[in-house]
Order: sequence, then C-alpha cells, then structure tokens
Amino acid sequence: MTDHLRAKFENIELNAGLGKISAFISLTLSLLCLFGALCFLFPSVLTTPELRPLYSKHYDLFYFSLMAGITISAGFGAFSAIVRQNRYGFYGLCLALAAAILGCGVIQAPVLPSVPFYAGFDYFVLTLVILALVFIPLEGFFAKNPQQKILRSGWITDIKYFMFSHIGIQLFSFLTVMPIQYWITHLPSNPVVPWVQAQPIWLQFIELLIVVDFTTYWLHRAMHEVNFLWRFHAIHHSTEHMDWLASSRLHIVEVLMTRFIATLPIFLLGFHTSAVFAYLIFISFHAIFIHSNVRFRFPYLRWLIATPEFHHWHHSSEKPAIDKNYAAFIPFYDVIFKTVYMPNHLASIYGTVGYKIPNSFVKQFTWPFKKYMKRFKQRFGKPKEPS
Ligand SMILES: [Zn+2]
Repeated sequence: MTDHLRAKFENIELNAGLGKISAFISLTLSLLCLFGALCFLFPSVLTTPELRPLYSKHYDLFYFSLMAGITISAGFGAFSAIVRQNRYGFYGLCLALAAAILGCGVIQAPVLPSVPFYAGFDYFVLTLVILALVFIPLEGFFAKNPQQKILRSGWITDIKYFMFSHIGIQLFSFLTVMPIQYWITHLPSNPVVPWVQAQPIWLQFIELLIVVDFTTYWLHRAMHEVNFLWRFHAIHHSTEHMDWLASSRLHIVEVLMTRFIATLPIFLLGFHTSAVFAYLIFISFHAIFIHSNVRFRFPYLRWLIATPEFHHWHHSSEKPAIDKNYAAFIPFYDVIFKTVYMPNHLASIYGTVGYKIPNSFVKQFTWPFKKYMKRFKQRFGKPKEPS
C-alpha cells in the first residue's frame, strides 16, 4: 500500500451522518465473510485441522453466521452507498456480493482430501471477530486515552501483522516446534518429566507461567540490550498508539525467537498438553490486554501480574522508563533484576527514541537488515566509474 493510500485510510473520523461508519462496518464485515466463504469452499487448505471437528459439529451455525454476516455487510454497504452516497459503501456492497457468490458455492463444493500444509484463514477470521467484539467496546468505555481513534495511524500496518501471524500459524509452528521436538527425541530421558506430569493441571499451568516468563524476561531484555536484536524488537516499539491491535506488531524474526525460547522449557519439562493449551490461550489474551488502551490500574494486583499500566510504561518513550518492565506476566522478575519502573501516574507518550522507523509492513520487515545490506553493498558493490 502506498503512503498516499495509507494516509487516506488512517486517522479516519468516524462521524455519524457521512456514511463512513456504515461503509467501515460493511467493508470490514464483507472482507471477513469473503475469508469465511473461502474457508467453506477450500476447508482442507485454508482451515486449521484442530478446529475442523468443531466446524463439522456446528456446520449449520457457522454457515448461518456467514450468511448473516453477508446480509448485514450488504445492508450497511447499500445504506452507505445509496443513502449517504459514500463510494466505500459501494465497495463494501460489492465485496458482500462476492462473498455471497462464493458462499453459495459451498453447497456443491466437493470435499477435498486433506493436504499436509494449510493456511489458518479461519483462525484469523475467528480471532479477529472475537477480539474486536471484546476490545473495541472495552476501550470505548474505559479508554486511557479517549482522544485515540479506533482507526488511529498505523492500524492498517498492525492488521497486516495480525493477519500474517494468524494465517501463517502452521509455518511459525513448523519453524519453532519441529526443531525442538526433533532435538528432544534425541536427548536422554529427563527425570524431571514424570515428576512434572504427576502434578495436577492447575499447578502445571502456574509453573508454566513462572518458568516461561523467566526465559522470555531474559530474551526480552537481550532484545533491548543487544544492538543486533534490538533492530528487530524496535519494530514492536515503533507504535505511537497503544491499543489491542498494537500487540500484533512484531517482526517475524522476533516471533520466531520468542516462540523458540518459550517453547523450549515447555518441551524440556514435559508439561501436559491440557496445561499447555490453557497457558497459550491465557497468555495470548493477556498479551493483547496489556497493550490495550484502558485505564484500569488494579491497585492490589499490579505488583503480582503485569497490567496495562505496567506494560504501557515499557512502551513509553520517557527517559526514566526506557529499558524497563521486561516481564510479560510476572513483574517480580523486574523487581529482583532491578528493571522495574512504576511511578504513580500513567504513561502517555510511546514510540522509539532516535530511530525513524518506516510505517509500511514491507519496509518494517526490511528495516532491521538495512544497516547490514548497506555494509554489504559498500564492501562488495561495484565501484563507481570516475567521471
Ligand atoms: Zn520491549
């Protein structure tokens, strides 16, 4: 997306009476329905295998939701286009029609054989809908910064990160979990594993929080203190607006490193799958919550678990807050390793200091490599002809 187009779609004032709200609802919903219709058409390549039994069991409910989504988005699109004469409403209406055509094809669609690789389109649509339904009203009612718009600058970039991380779930798992699984099968058996597995699931869940947070504390700290790693992590800190979507902005190298470091103790200590699933769902939701634009301060809990207040200070560009509050869940690690910062007021300015990080998704991907590419060119590039 060009800078001109991005500027057009970001910082949109969703004022009533111009057809912008209805166009936005229509475009968003119709795009999600388009993804949903594609999932119904090509389930074996676009859906997550773990979720497929759920779709078979509640097929009618999911298909009804798709059709309801298409009808609602077409309705809002038609209202925006006809009554308010907004052309984006017309685009929403067209997308809704495209989703309807694809969705109708589902009835005759052949059942394809399962393929070894899949894209989690369904995972992307479901999580986006659920998170938007939870966090948009939450941030609306309890905003820390009430002036911040839902469509603040950078939201398009962040939604691309969200889409990339959810659709590429299998690729990420393949690149992180597989090497660890392979390595562990070649290790002598760990005597700690039977002891861990004999414990109740709730205890394993708490142990996971303590152990994984310890490893990710040090990885996070290294990402701030080692220049090479910081270039990747700086992308996450480049956001100047904190909200639920800002949590998605992570360079792929950081995602892979974090998943690798977090997965290592899980496999080495042999935690039960139920405890691991519960932990993953909880920590993913918590990671989004601590980025959200909410003013809750949790006076008693704030030293026990990481809160939005605690993590917003980590993103602050105020000098005393820089390189502080690394823990993802347990602030106590920051207390014992002397990196905690929790003044009495809330953080207000965010972003990187001394770096101009580009806004686009693609440019952010290449930005950490720029310095090294420049050096490579200087060393091996063709010398200029003397004029
Ligand atoms: Zn950080």
